Amino acid sequence: MQTYTAVGNAPGKARETYRCRVAIIGGGTAGITVAAQLARRGIHDVALIEPSQKHYYQPLWTLVGAGVATAEQSVRDEARFIPRGVRWIQDYAVEIDPEQQLVCTRDGTRVQYDFLVVAPGVESHWEKIEGASETLGRNGVSTNYSYDLAPRTWEFIQQTREGVALFTMPNTAEPGYTIKCGGAPQKIAYMAADYFRMQGRPVKVIYATAGGVLFGVPEFCRVLEQVCERYGIEVLTKHELIAVDPVRKQATFALKDKPGETKTIAFDMLHIGPPQRAAQVVRESPLAHREGAMVGFVNVDIHTLQHVEYPNVFGLGDAAGLPVSRTGAAVRKQAPVLINNLLKVMQGKEPDKRYNGYTSCPLVTAYGRMVLAEFDYNNTPTPSIPFIDAQRERFDMWLLKKYGLPFMYWNLMLRGRA
Ligand SMILES: Cc1cc2nc3c(=O)[nH]c(=O)nc-3n(C[C@H](O)[C@H](O)[C@H](O)COP(=O)(O)OP(=O)(O)OC[C@H]3O[C@@H](n4cnc5c(N)ncnc54)[C@H](O)[C@@H]3O)c2cc1C
Repeated sequence: MQTYTAVGNAPGKARETYRCRVAIIGGGTAGITVAAQLARRGIHDVALIEPSQKHYYQPLWTLVGAGVATAEQSVRDEARFIPRGVRWIQDYAVEIDPEQQLVCTRDGTRVQYDFLVVAPGVESHWEKIEGASETLGRNGVSTNYSYDLAPRTWEFIQQTREGVALFTMPNTAEPGYTIKCGGAPQKIAYMAADYFRMQGRPVKVIYATAGGVLFGVPEFCRVLEQVCERYGIEVLTKHELIAVDPVRKQATFALKDKPGETKTIAFDMLHIGPPQRAAQVVRESPLAHREGAMVGFVNVDIHTLQHVEYPNVFGLGDAAGLPVSRTGAAVRKQAPVLINNLLKVMQGKEPDKRYNGYTSCPLVTAYGRMVLAEFDYNNTPTPSIPFIDAQRERFDMWLLKKYGLPFMYWNLMLRGRA
């Protein structure tokens, strides 16, 4: 049933106004999952604002960078995942006015909502690293944080026959900054180290993080320290990448425990984990935290996912102001909580489901080995698969990463079934 009305009598798309019960900003992992679950609950009066023709399964990019999957395997047409009855507004949201309950898009379309779900994810801020954006994809410098560049990572790993392979993790302690899947910058370091080992190449692998530890959850940190020891990976903490010189092939780091001091490391290949922030439309909206660690992210209650000032607004996924490692796995647990609470609020009731901060990071540690790190807001391990020791590198978990999780994503999660 078509439930939208174009109001006003302005001709042409540029000034159309759509009214809808629920508007969703972003049709990535979170937006499509929510749209699908709403459709299953019989809520079809939904508008989804998403500019991209393509939908990406980003977790596969780690395996693309390691040469065991192709970039093409990570992408499908977005249209295939828009639930029937949902109106797809294929444009960027550029302005959110929660007082007027209105979202405006780049081409001037206005979306008038009763309820809003905000999920436009995060953006990489390459300008924080001098020289990076000019050289990405060239001179041995790459990142798995982009569909186009993940295949270049694999090329550069193969081309590195000796010298130094450098992998970096950005400063996520700076207010407003994060990185989705905080494990991804080290996963590719492990895969590269394993590749160099198998090929018998004398390549020194360095993992430099702006943080103080290799991994925030002690139980998994211990396992990963052993992995680094096995490969001889040098781990540098409190090292924030601030500049790349592509000609000299040097990376400059600010030393976080020695203010004002820097260190330069020469590399043969460099994989950069980018500093990321919430999407601009959120940062510049009244929905964002105005200060503190989560500045710029959607200011939602961390348990109910309801906005703290606008009860008809909810947020989830990477753009939400949640003190959690931002992953698709976290979205899978957030979505049913959000749906339940949104439906309750629609009925004039109080939200009564709580998200406990569950997230999971499938840490590939070798070709054929993976540690499934699952934990919550308290950094307490929360294993979801019974009868297995998740704090061990496992072949069955590798199969889960390579085959099981992509299948579940495309066929269950995006269809509102998981
Ligand atoms: C290299 C890499 C490895 C990863 N590994 C894992 C892993 O192993 N396991 C795991 O669970 N997660 C992993 N992730 C993280 C996971 O992909 C994200 O956490 C997840 O996609 C978040 O979902 P989201 O919907 O919030 O954001 P996204 O899926 O990024 O979707 C955001 C959507 O919003 C759209 N958008 C942006 N701006 C606007 C706007 N102004 N208006 C409207 N729409 C907009 C975008 O086009 C996009 O479609 C990985 C990510 C990367 C990059």
